[in-house]
Amino acid sequence: MTTSDLFEGQTGLWEIVIGVEVHAQVISQAKLFSSAPTAFGAAPNTQVSCVDAGFPGMLPTLNGFCVEQAVKTGLGLNAQIHLRSQFDRKNYFYADLPNGYQISQLYHPIVGTGYVDIDKADGTAKRIGVTRLHLEQDAGKSIHDQSPTKSFIDLNRAGVALMEIVSEPDMRSAEEVMAYIRKLRTILRYLETCDGNMEEGSMRADVNVSVRRPGEALGTRAEIKNVNSVRYIGQAIAYEVDRQVTLIENGQKVVQETRLFDAQKGETRSMRGKEDAHDYRYFPDPDLPPLVIGQDLVERIRSQMPELPDAKKKRLIHDLSLAPYDADVIVAERETADFFEETLTCLKAFQENKAENEKAAAAKLAANWLTGDFFAALNRSGLSIIQSPISAAHLAELVDLILTNVISGRIAKDVFLEMWDSTHPPTRIVETKGLQQITDTGALEASINQILAQNADKVAEYRSGKDKLFGFFVGQVMKATGGKANPAALNELLLKKLN
Ligand code: ADP
Ligand code: MG
Repeated sequence: MTTSDLFEGQTGLWEIVIGVEVHAQVISQAKLFSSAPTAFGAAPNTQVSCVDAGFPGMLPTLNGFCVEQAVKTGLGLNAQIHLRSQFDRKNYFYADLPNGYQISQLYHPIVGTGYVDIDKADGTAKRIGVTRLHLEQDAGKSIHDQSPTKSFIDLNRAGVALMEIVSEPDMRSAEEVMAYIRKLRTILRYLETCDGNMEEGSMRADVNVSVRRPGEALGTRAEIKNVNSVRYIGQAIAYEVDRQVTLIENGQKVVQETRLFDAQKGETRSMRGKEDAHDYRYFPDPDLPPLVIGQDLVERIRSQMPELPDAKKKRLIHDLSLAPYDADVIVAERETADFFEETLTCLKAFQENKAENEKAAAAKLAANWLTGDFFAALNRSGLSIIQSPISAAHLAELVDLILTNVISGRIAKDVFLEMWDSTHPPTRIVETKGLQQITDTGALEASINQILAQNADKVAEYRSGKDKLFGFFVGQVMKATGGKANPAALNELLLKKLN
């Protein structure tokens, strides 16, 4: 741990301890125990079955696809899969919970211990333990801001499948928590088990924070509920750490409680005292037998797992010699990684029997274009990579044109902008506009002769020792050729002429 992770109070340094519970909405067309649809944004109460509405006599039917999604996620978190798990009733009253209980898995979750490796800002990795992952249903939504006198209930979300992913208290700073949430979201998106969309609420985090003197036993935690953006998580933790340290340093105690984060004020406020398992009178749901899955199901899902970001990153660094930073940027979103790999597939260097160093050079150039000009253009136009007007094949074509010296990197930038606007292939743009580099010595020589003749005085100065003028001549020839002179050829010829 670096000292910067410690919090400096009035009476010395404090260690920050954080564990996170993430609720991730399972990607599934139907709910966990009913066939009602789950699409986001539907009109209120249009996606509700009698099971979700808690009608008497209705029985839950477990959605097998959601179970597979949980297993897949467990494997993605390097976790133990429990072949036998159990659904419990967690009893409490709330207006948007028509059954009076939530079906969850307290005692026997479907997934046990695993881990997530996070990438720290200094380039090192840190392993964060995962305690468990269990399946449970979401509640409905109470709406209080539509009328001054009434509250409304929307049950569309009631019964939607959630995976609750509980971490060990292994994080030591807000940065680590943000890195954990980001990494988890990336993994879920690669797996296609949760879309990770925090704004739409399909991924929500409860952040448990405590402080202690370095090396001492764990302090009392406060749980901050439903923080719904990575940025707010940082703010909520900063506020909470300051609050707890101030309390303890003033001789008071932190009480275990549930707090909520007010994004407008940037502070956390007490919501309720911490409830314990016995407050909920958990008991096995009598309508649902224990969930027993076979090892063959687990193995089938394992065999269909996509390559995950950590493995992909390692491969890009190891096989293609990409810089770790570039690899991080490329694997952060599955769509970006797919686009990059498709670009490589289209690159000539990857089709023929090319030497490893040639492949590496091509991959490096493709990575630079993707994370540089390409990302900048996406940002400017507010598009995501799947909406890009430039296809992977066209980007590969552009990179090929540079690699084979048909155009210079400088001209390629103009071609790129033209590709963006016209969606034309780069080869066509280069041909119609005559943008090919001039590598032909005869043509270059003619242009150089002309420039030197026009600037006889400067040539004399150069020859009497004013070396800096070399750049001036390069610039003049570039200007005369519309930037198309091949830089290497130009330098060589110009040197020969001047000396
Ligand atoms: P509950 O549902 O009661 O909050 P869970 O076991 O589901 O209990 O989650 C507890 C979370 O709190 C875990 O993420 C765990 O790592 C974290 N945690 C436990 N003790 C501490 C502590 N002293 N400081 C910070 N986090 C803690
Ligand atoms: Mg909790």
